[in-house]
Amino acid sequence: MKKKALTMISMVTALSMTACSTAPNTAATSSTAVSEETQASEKASEAASASGKYTPGTYTGESEGHGGTVKVTADFTEDAISNVSLDLSVETESIGQAASETLVKEIMDAQSADIDAVSGATETTDAVKRALQSAIDHASGTDKSASAEKAALKDGTYTESASSFGFTGDMVGEVTIADGKIKDIKITEETDSATGQWFKTAEANLIPRIIEAQSIGVDAISGATSSSGAIKKIVAEAIDEAGGKSDEWYNAPEKSTETVKLDGYDVIVVGLGGSGLLSYCAAAKSGAKVFGIEQAAAIGGNSASVYGPMAINSKNLAKKYNDGKDYIDADDVYKTWIDYVGTDEKADVIRKAVDESGPALDYYMDNFDFEFDGMEGGLIGSFVRTDWDKEWTVYTADENNTKWYVLGPDHTFQFTRALDKAKAMNEKNDYMLELKGDELITDENDNVIGVRCTYYDGTTYEVYGKSVILATGGFIGNEDMMKEYLGHSATVIGDMLAKGDGIKMGQSVGGTTYAMGTLPMIHISQVPHVIRTDDLTADQKAILSALAVTTDAPEITIEGEKWGGDDASGTDASTGLTVGIAYAPGFMYYTVWSQDDIDTIRTKGLSETTSKAIVNFVGNGGELPEAGTPVEDIDKILKVGEDFNDVLSGTPAELADKMGVDVSKLADSLGTTADSTDKFYLVACSGWSYGTVGSLNIDANMNVLKEDGTPIENLFAVGQDSEGVCNADGKAYSPWGGQAQSWTFVSGKIAGENAAKLAK
Ligand SMILES: Cc1cc2nc3c(=O)[nH]c(=O)nc-3n(C[C@H](O)[C@H](O)[C@H](O)COP(=O)(O)OP(=O)(O)OC[C@H]3O[C@@H](n4cnc5c(N)ncnc54)[C@H](O)[C@@H]3O)c2cc1C
Repeated sequence: MKKKALTMISMVTALSMTACSTAPNTAATSSTAVSEETQASEKASEAASASGKYTPGTYTGESEGHGGTVKVTADFTEDAISNVSLDLSVETESIGQAASETLVKEIMDAQSADIDAVSGATETTDAVKRALQSAIDHASGTDKSASAEKAALKDGTYTESASSFGFTGDMVGEVTIADGKIKDIKITEETDSATGQWFKTAEANLIPRIIEAQSIGVDAISGATSSSGAIKKIVAEAIDEAGGKSDEWYNAPEKSTETVKLDGYDVIVVGLGGSGLLSYCAAAKSGAKVFGIEQAAAIGGNSASVYGPMAINSKNLAKKYNDGKDYIDADDVYKTWIDYVGTDEKADVIRKAVDESGPALDYYMDNFDFEFDGMEGGLIGSFVRTDWDKEWTVYTADENNTKWYVLGPDHTFQFTRALDKAKAMNEKNDYMLELKGDELITDENDNVIGVRCTYYDGTTYEVYGKSVILATGGFIGNEDMMKEYLGHSATVIGDMLAKGDGIKMGQSVGGTTYAMGTLPMIHISQVPHVIRTDDLTADQKAILSALAVTTDAPEITIEGEKWGGDDASGTDASTGLTVGIAYAPGFMYYTVWSQDDIDTIRTKGLSETTSKAIVNFVGNGGELPEAGTPVEDIDKILKVGEDFNDVLSGTPAELADKMGVDVSKLADSLGTTADSTDKFYLVACSGWSYGTVGSLNIDANMNVLKEDGTPIENLFAVGQDSEGVCNADGKAYSPWGGQAQSWTFVSGKIAGENAAKLAK
């Protein structure tokens, strides 16, 4: 058996490797693939028809999910699927990956791809269904290759909708089919743009690629995976409505295998978010020839979504908003900061972070037209020190300060204006979007001489230059690194492209890290899975959020321990600053509601405190009822919350089982006994993180440091890739207000100027 099985597996692997075109959305569409594939499927169909409905063996199918390609591997006997495993590692951990167990159970029960979608994980479910169908087609010898005749489409314009990133409504689009082809795709309604610029990048780049390839198997647009997924869903629905089979339209265009060399640069910047493009500007202004590498289809990164930077005594802002006088005691900020991190190991860098905060802003205001008049009075108070009433500032928004996202001013126009100005400073200067920096190129003496990158179409780019600045935004989007350094991944608000690439590149040439255990930036609390479907109304969703974020209920951790309250958990003893949920295990906790509490809410409504809870940070735009207004549909709200993994309910024993914790410890935290039959409801409150802080170790010149503390002369790190040096392991991100954004200006200016100096 073993020998035969091996050949089978090697054949299947070969098949899945080369002829995944039988599986929807696969690369291998070349002619050779087809012949192997036809041979294989002919052999399989012969075998299948000879005995059971399948040719026993292991078959793998692939398809495009929310975050990339998902894989389904199924073992078949002659008549059944005997085992199935899913590789959903590209999907969001708390959504797609969390659906894995349910999907496997459904597949084994249904013994087919005809399974129900898991609530909130429709895109993942659809991809698993397509991939499984491809494996089934293989096992049953049914030819579904890209070359196979697709079902004909009826010409017409079809209006479809799909839930997307937006919190307050679905995306709606019109797809025109003409002569059996996808002729046009128009998005007529979307709410993604309320949160940022990313939908526009999907609309501008993905739609032409779908039409050109006549396929929905093209890659999602980097930085806009949700919007891309929704657009693809709309086209798939239209194909099905036009009489086609959308599963047949997932063949992936062939990737380029070319290599392009670009050289002669003084400074290469990896990542054109805030700190990267500010580095680019400073290097160009200092006379360097600069090349910028950006993975997403637009510049700005998470910096495009921020309110603004800390601004310690900017001369320009002082002149405009404080009669030209300094407006904050920099020494007090410096001393408080050193006390907070509890060491003076990086005192020289923190001194710069304070003293250069204002001057760096002035430099970019004077030389690259940055504006910070977003808020009345220009300067606003610190989050934590009320006496620092002029501590940070806010970007001026586009269109005369009128264009705001839910989370901040739309200020990308300022980034574009600055980058274009810097690019024009030398005819050699350039940058590329949808280009991912993969690794540093070194010479025979291990000196850094460039960056190897991959373009969205598969082309390899090798960019050569005298120095490299790493600005890839930290590692919040890398679940393995999050678990390694912080024990848990986090719920993320912002783009997930910050996958720790810069930190890994720095380490690959001997760079070390600093304070990787600093807790992630968290300013927003909300249920971990925002419900985007119409299973609940916006007002009902607001009530669910209020039950999660209210301070009017006991709290327990994911480990079943009591949390919050006046035992000072979450309070930093050295400064007395409350830093809250970032300290909770898994950066989340549950609010606890007894059956009596829920009965009271049903008949007497929410408490004063809960009815005033702040629920619209990443909320669905719903209104909370007045305190005392009966909430008759509270059971439905909790039931749907449970479907979306925002609520757990049951007796202490049942809850302990669901949470994987000790029942007596949990019962104690619930104030009852382990054998109690009372029902409790636990509503998840998650800290939504902006990003990580732990980073590469750098000196005050922004040079990456080796184990022995010596600098790698031509390697720099900025922004979140170096912000660890201003923070401390086990502590929340320094909470003054706007500190991270200020660091993009300070670190960007210093690194850009030093890298340019090096090239001279
Ligand atoms: C919604 C939101 C609001 C925020 N508000 C504030 C605020 O008001 N004030 C504040 O101080 N901070 C705020 N922050 C924190 C903010 O992230 C930091 O202040 C700062 O923007 C980080 O800048 P950065 O340059 O390190 O990262 P980013 O601006 O995210 O830039 C990183 C860039 O690197 C690119 N990239 C990643 N990997 C690669 C690769 N391998 N190859 C090529 N390119 C790559 C990314 O696509 C991105 O463009 C907020 C964050 C979020 C998400």
